[in-house]
This record gives sequence, C-alpha cells and structure tokens, in this order.
Amino acid sequence: MVMNTEVKELGHFINGKIVAGTSGHFSDVFNPSTGAVIAHVPLATKEEVQSAIMTAQAAFPAWRALSVGKRVEIVMKFRQLMTERIDELIAIICTESGKTVEDAKGEITRGLESVDLAINAPHLLKGEHSVNVGGNINAYSTKVPLGIVAAISPFNFPVMVPLAMTCMAVAVGNCVILKPSERVPCSALFFSELWKEAGLPDGVWTVINGDKDAVNELLENPAIKAISFVGSTPVAEHIYKTGSSYGKRVTALGGGKNNMIVMPDADLEQVANAFLGAAYGAASQRCMAISTIMPVGEDTANNLVKVLADKISKLKVGPYTDPAVDFGPVITKQSKDAIIGYIDRSLDEGATLVCDGRNPNIAEISKGFYLGPTLLDNVKPGMEIYEQEVFGPVRNVVRVDSLEEAIELINAHELGNGVTIFTNNGAAARKFTSEIDVGMVGVNVPIPIPVGYHNFAGWKRSRFGEGHMFGPEHVRFFTKTKTISEKWFEENSESVSTFAFPSNND
Ligand code: NAD
Repeated sequence: MVMNTEVKELGHFINGKIVAGTSGHFSDVFNPSTGAVIAHVPLATKEEVQSAIMTAQAAFPAWRALSVGKRVEIVMKFRQLMTERIDELIAIICTESGKTVEDAKGEITRGLESVDLAINAPHLLKGEHSVNVGGNINAYSTKVPLGIVAAISPFNFPVMVPLAMTCMAVAVGNCVILKPSERVPCSALFFSELWKEAGLPDGVWTVINGDKDAVNELLENPAIKAISFVGSTPVAEHIYKTGSSYGKRVTALGGGKNNMIVMPDADLEQVANAFLGAAYGAASQRCMAISTIMPVGEDTANNLVKVLADKISKLKVGPYTDPAVDFGPVITKQSKDAIIGYIDRSLDEGATLVCDGRNPNIAEISKGFYLGPTLLDNVKPGMEIYEQEVFGPVRNVVRVDSLEEAIELINAHELGNGVTIFTNNGAAARKFTSEIDVGMVGVNVPIPIPVGYHNFAGWKRSRFGEGHMFGPEHVRFFTKTKTISEKWFEENSESVSTFAFPSNND
C-alpha cells in the first residue's frame, strides 16, 4: 500500500451532499505513520448543526413510514457497496489512524457484524401480541423509532464504532447525525457516499464534523431524542449528565483498564501469545485492550515476566505499509508525549522497567508518532499508571498472591469494561466469572469483546446510562415501545358506561 500525500479540504454531509464548512475553523488531520497533515476538517458552528438537524427532521416522517423491509434493502445495498470498496476503506483507516492492514481488516469485519444485525431489524422489531385480554380486546406492542438521534464517536475505531452506533438506528427508522472524531473524519464521509449510492433518502444520514461546540448543540437541541456516545470516561460522563438533563436518552461508553489474571496452572506460552496481541495490538489504543496482567503467585510472575520480556523485545513497530509490522504509531504527537510522561512518572513511583519503548528505532519514517512496547513490573494500586487508562503501548504487571486478591483489586477499580482469566481450573474460572464486577468477561479469551448479536457494554465508570452497543439491547435503545389495546364492535352490539377502573373481568 502506498501513502497518499495530498492534503484534502473536508466538509460535512448534509441533506445528501458534501457541503463546505462555514465556520472558518479547521482542525488538522494527521497521518500518524508519517506525521504529515493529510486533511483539514471543518469544525461546525451551532448554526450549521441546527441546519443539519432541520434537514433530518424533514426526512424523518417519510423514512419512518417506509416499510422496514424497504429500509433494510438499503442497508443490504450499503453492506454490498462497503465490501466491494473494502480496499479503499482499509486505506482510509490505515492512513488516518495508523493501524496495520490486518488490524483494519479485523475492524471492518467486526463493523460488518453491526450491519448484519441491522439487516435483522424486521425480526428484532417484532412486538408482542395478546389475544382477548378482556372483553374481546387484543393488546399488542410495537417498537417505533425515536426520531433524530445523534452518534458521537472516538478516534480509535473510525469504522467499527460509527457502524455500531448508526446502522441499527437507521434500520429501525430513525434519522442519524454522526459527529465523528475530528482526528479520523474520513471514514464517516466515505460512508456518506455509500449510503447515497445505496439509495438512502437525503437527510436520513448526516455527518457533522466538529469538536465540543458541535457536540454541545447536539446535546442541547430538543429535536435530538437520543445520544449514543463512545469516548473517554470524563467526556462520557459530561455527555451523559448534560444529555440527560435535556431529557434525552443517553448511552455513553467510556474508557477501560482491563486485566488478565494468570493462574499458576495456565500455560505461560499460550498466555504470553494471547497477551501480546490483546495488550499491544493497535498500539494499545483499544478500550478492550489488556492493560494489566496479574500473575497469581511469585513463581508464576517470575516465569511469566521472563517469557514476556523475550517476546516483547521481538515485536516490530512501524508504518502500515510494512506488512511485517505488529503495530503502528499512536494517534498524535501530544498523545505520544503524554504516554512517555506516564512511563517516567511510574518509574518515580516505584515501577520497574522490563521493556522500554520510549525511543523506538524506526529509521524509515522518523516523524511518525511511534512508541515501542513498554512493560512495567511491580506496578501497584494507587500508582497513576495503575489507576488511569493509558491509551498507548505501556502495559503493567501487577503481582498478586491469590485469585481472591486479584478479584478484589479489579472490583475496587473505578473502570469495568473488560477482564479475562487464563486457567485450566474450572472452579477458579467459575469463582472469577461469578464474583467479578466487570461488564465483559473472558475465560481463556484474550479480548472478550462480544460478537455483534450479543450485548456490548462495560460497567462502573466505563459506561454511563443503561443502553448497550449492538446486540438485542441496542434495538431497544433506538426505539420506544407503544402498547395498543384494541377492540372492534360487532354490529348492533350493546354498550354501557362504566366508571370502574378497567379490569380484565369485563
Ligand atoms: P474523546 O473522549 O477525546 O473523544 C470522543 C468524542 O468526543 C470525539 O468525537 C470528540 O470530538 C468528542 N469530544 C471530545 N471532548 C469533548 C468535550 N469536552 N465535549 C464534547 N465532546 C467532546 O475520546 P478519543 O480520544 O477520541 O477516544 C479514545 C477513548 O475512547 C478511550 O478512552 C477509549 O477507551 C474510549 N473508547 C471506549 C470504547 C467503549 O466501547 N467503551 C470504545 C472505543 C473507545
């Protein structure tokens, strides 16, 4: 794959076409592998967001009225176009996020699961029906769309997360406004082209580029009925609190600090191989990445650290154009500097360096935002590096004496996205799965991210609001239930007035 050096001026996608931004404010989009600016993305004003919302409002009645079968036909066409143009999409992901080609393919595959789930909307929208609940009355419930819904996405999955947030929303009859991360806006604009070609009516799909000003208008505008957010915990909390205070349905998924417990009976070769990808894949910029490995017992820890040190020293970091690379750069220079700061401070706090990735030797393209893999041993609760999510390739070893201690530590942490255990002991696995206070749990699985037809969401401060991302719960988030009680009179049937509260004795 070759790198594109052209700098593009991006726009928004409103009412079926790309329109230029009018604010005069732009943000630079980088190719993290080279450090070069590849695009300027406009930052929308409040007024631009309002005008986009108006076009979505105009489109909603007809979209809602279209049969679900017809809506799903458009989603199927979108899926077909996406798979036909998959190479372009891979190139976009790699260029704007720095991911390797293999990782981009994995992201697209998981994103397609959300499209597939949306194609099942006719089945998932089926309501409940009870015959003759009293006095020849039938009762039934239907799931109806909310109206205009907004999705606000993070940089680390430019394809998978926006697809997960929007496809079901569209299929069940909503109009969607996506505000992608200003650091990776190109995939969302690419999707706009595909939706248009697939036949989606203008106004049903909108992309507004911008930063917090655009988001604040989405949070406050009464026409927006629901907010689906994925990003860091502090912003997720702000989105949840503000959106809820404006009466909106909000699900805001936040960060993760995910652990892998290693029991003394586990095969350390298997554990180490599982850990490498789960911990350092995508330069650790995944909410479900393993941050901390917790070997149980001193012997397990000593042996594991030796195996890991050897394997980590062989990992290859570099640009996506090199197929031998295990992971690429982090997203920005600021992010790289912040991660180095975390490592420096952890050493002051008593952590010890097993592998130091602060100065990777990447001769080919030195201006990219690269960090090598860092492994810190003797990390302890209370240290900044243990408590905070660090979105880069710095991983911790926390030594524990027992499974009970590991469970206690994990349960006491404020984040609860994912967790896993490696063991051959069924009783230990059972104790772990029942007692652990985390939303997504694995047993001998490195990244326990559920498949698209199961519900995805963390617990504690990894999620604000009760909704889920994909899975059956996702349909409920984007619809409201209407319950209808219905009776038809036979000709000349008698009618009486009753003042008692209606009951099923009638
Ligand atoms: P971020 O919170 O900085 O940004 C996410 C979105 O919020 C972007 O669209 C951004 O423009 C917007 N935003 C940023 N600051 C804002 C503010 N003050 N007010 C309103 N909007 C604001 O997150 P990021 O750095 O793009 O993404 C990485 C984070 O996302 C990590 O913490 C990661 O764990 C998390 N994440 C979580 C999941 C999950 O499923 N739980 C999935 C992917 C990423």
